[in-house]
Amino acid sequence: MNTIDGILSKSELTKEDIILLLQTNTDDRNKLYAKAAEVKEKYIGRKVYFRGLIEMSNICRKNCFYCGIRASNTNTERYNLSDDEIVEASVFAWKNGYASIALQSGELNSPEFVDRITTLLKKINMATNAELGITLSLGEQTEETYKEWFSNGAIRYLLRVEASNKELYAKLHPSNKAHSFDERVECLRSLRRVGYQVGTGVMIGLPFQTLEHLAEDLLWIKDMDIDMVGMGPYVEHPDTPLFKYREHLLPIEERFNLSLKMIAILRILMKDINIAAPTALQAIDKLGREKGLKVGANVVMPNITPGLYRNNYKLYENKPCTDEAVDDCKNCLEARIQLTGDTIGYGEHGNSLHFINRN
Ligand code: SAM
Ligand code: SF4
Repeated sequence: MNTIDGILSKSELTKEDIILLLQTNTDDRNKLYAKAAEVKEKYIGRKVYFRGLIEMSNICRKNCFYCGIRASNTNTERYNLSDDEIVEASVFAWKNGYASIALQSGELNSPEFVDRITTLLKKINMATNAELGITLSLGEQTEETYKEWFSNGAIRYLLRVEASNKELYAKLHPSNKAHSFDERVECLRSLRRVGYQVGTGVMIGLPFQTLEHLAEDLLWIKDMDIDMVGMGPYVEHPDTPLFKYREHLLPIEERFNLSLKMIAILRILMKDINIAAPTALQAIDKLGREKGLKVGANVVMPNITPGLYRNNYKLYENKPCTDEAVDDCKNCLEARIQLTGDTIGYGEHGNSLHFINRN
């Protein structure tokens, strides 16, 4: 039995095992992917769930060094969808059987913003018979705020830790309280206390990041007992401070392959969580999301932001589907997912089994 077969037959993986898996290529890599597909089929089945992604606004108070919509980027035209536009997009998702939406935006924490989200949750629930599973991805907030939104119908929250290594995190963010690693982790703990299905994730292929960091990220996610994960390649943006390191990055195809391996290993480590095939995969390879599904992911997030605004939510270069109509995206996605052999769980929330099993 060669090393990879040995590792893949173990019940627990060590950091060293994970690093070896991240280094696999060709045949060994295919064995990793096959094992992840087998685990997915056995523990969660081959259904894919949709989360209609609504990028509400690109206005942000923060200045993460990697992000194209950071506050200091004056080249971005800022927008803020109206409540009506957001409700309309939610109704589109509901009527088309998406069953879940994800509201995402730059991070704001003013009382007006907090109230606005509360009102919006009420409006969305009213317009959709409270049948949508609502995920929020609105950054770091107080536990009070998380409670308020939870009691108004949000059930899942996505807050990527971005990098679980504190020193690496510090290289990716300004050093101040608004960008503190400890605060971000504390937010994840608050979300768990409040009762959300808690989602996190990391970027893959960041400047200064090593395979050891990535292996630690996966073990950290397991240790935090996370319910859902969205992680994908870092894609550089010219109007950000990290752009100057672009020559030190792994080639984009390698960041893509590394992301697929990260998804596959995570599926083996955490068999019953939800894992999203992130949009950033598709920015690199036209079939990126489908490839993610083949190696263990079970959630996709079709972008249902009104087309007019999508061009302005540019976190990185070549973001896909920014010019397509919402329906085009739905139809093309459906056909592509069928090709993977998975089926779409239309009308089903597709909540994290890991969360259900824990509670
Ligand atoms: N503002 C909220 C937050 O930061 O949690 C939610 C929106 S933020 C745009 C969502 C995610 O985009 C971040 O967690 C980050 O991982 C990802 N992102 C930002 N810039 C990126 C880049 N250049 N490449 C890949 N992902 C990026
Ligand atoms: Fe703002 Fe989120 Fe981008 Fe950071 S990653 S600058 S918090 S939108």
